[in-house]
Amino acid sequence: MTKKELILSNIIHGEQQPPSSQSYFDSVNPSTGSVFAKIPASNKDDVDAAVYSAVEGASSWGKLTSAVRADYLRQIHDHILLHGQELAKLETVDNGWVIRETEYGLIPSLASIWLDAINAAISGTKGETINAGEDIVAYTIREPYGVVAAIIPWNAPLFTFTIKAAYALAAGNSIVVKPSELAAVSSLRYGELINEILPPGVLNVISGDGKDVGAHLVSHPLVDKISLTGSGATASAIARSTADSPKSMILELGGKSPHIIFDDAAIQQAAFGLTLNGIFTGNAGQLCVGGSRIYVQRGIYDEVIAAVRQIVSAEIPLGDTENPLSAMGPIANAAHYNKVRSYIELAKEEGAKVLIGGHSGGEVVHPDNPKLAHGYWLEPTLLEVTSNKLRICQEEVFGPVATIQVFDTEEEVLALANDTEFGLGAGLWTNDLHRANRLIRQIKSGSVWVNDFRRVGPELPFGGFKKSGFGTDSVAEFTRNKTVYVKINQ
Ligand code: NAD
Repeated sequence: MTKKELILSNIIHGEQQPPSSQSYFDSVNPSTGSVFAKIPASNKDDVDAAVYSAVEGASSWGKLTSAVRADYLRQIHDHILLHGQELAKLETVDNGWVIRETEYGLIPSLASIWLDAINAAISGTKGETINAGEDIVAYTIREPYGVVAAIIPWNAPLFTFTIKAAYALAAGNSIVVKPSELAAVSSLRYGELINEILPPGVLNVISGDGKDVGAHLVSHPLVDKISLTGSGATASAIARSTADSPKSMILELGGKSPHIIFDDAAIQQAAFGLTLNGIFTGNAGQLCVGGSRIYVQRGIYDEVIAAVRQIVSAEIPLGDTENPLSAMGPIANAAHYNKVRSYIELAKEEGAKVLIGGHSGGEVVHPDNPKLAHGYWLEPTLLEVTSNKLRICQEEVFGPVATIQVFDTEEEVLALANDTEFGLGAGLWTNDLHRANRLIRQIKSGSVWVNDFRRVGPELPFGGFKKSGFGTDSVAEFTRNKTVYVKINQ
């Protein structure tokens, strides 16, 4: 990478490789709307080179002892912490995710995943033995798959890269990572740094579009396992393209997570949770688990809205993403900016009422800062709805936009919460732990938080129900069992 021009290369077999087409995509800083870097527009030849490199990488990496692999992961952990500020800044500029969250939230969470993977490399790859008779030795080996294709989205590149790479490598696989064509800068640099530690071929990064490069990678006959974080549409496309030669897949997909606030909840705590951890901060609501549907029991409805309004105006200043005082950045790219704004317009046409925000453009940030005038800015937006059937309540908007709806009874709100094709997360706000316990069992989602939201620890699974996907990026899912019976001849 040359720092002045910021023209990035693929990372194949431990080396920077320009795309064989010599073509590049522009990377745009969403705060300013200006191009700040160029990323490879790779083609199928580049994919083939990355996969062949990974095949070679897997053959040596997979033979190392768990302890040696764990030691490599420890070195990666230390190395990325050393470069944490640089990585945080790249993620901020590439993605619009404020530096307050990338430097102080994201980088420590990457480090904790690498730390967990060090343990997992040793304890998560142990097989089992059974007593099958005195002349039989019976055991399982947890073997790596071989080559993993990791397809990652634009909204949280370094996090999704890490959760896949750390556990795939811990299990003994090599990996080809394909970041999104909309935000690949931080991933290409991350791949470069990790390759300063790993032997060549073990981790490769290739930048390109989804329909050619991504599709060629996942259907490549030498790829053994796929891990996708992305949309349902991409999951379906991958399932179709691999239908004749099925592969094991982890699918981490979208969400439409509900918050349920009962009238016995600590209202201020709930209001903080559903704004600051729920939907508006956290990459401007562009997180899969964003709590975009808020249901409030009738007796406290007005009080919750007043508390949210106060928190939004006092605690969520939009602003220059590189300024640590800014709490929320822009929408990450132009196409998505238009999509999110069109959802707000559609909701209004369908009868939703804007209670908070709703405005977009340079004037909602710092009108006196011309640098930000052409960024993709959108205010935190709260829309009051009276029906769950509105498209804004059913489809993933993926931005700082939430709906709020009143309810009366537990049965009613349970039905509303589950009335979605997604099932990623849910937030329950109540001081009645009996009620919380009842609802935890009945809510159809992969995670439930009680009086809390969006806390994710690498030691526990984070996955989806229904159209939010299946499987989780964990060491167990990057290994497969081989069962062995050995008859000891007398
Ligand atoms: P997307 O599905 O459009 O793209 C994701 C990746 O898939 C990109 O790298 C893209 O180039 C690639 N791709 C597209 N078509 C492909 C194909 N046919 N074959 C192979 N690869 C292909 O998703 P996005 O817009 O980048 O990301 C947002 C989505 O990701 C949202 O739905 C969000 O909820 C989801 N997400 C889920 C989680 C989770 O943990 N469940 C986390 C983050 C994001």
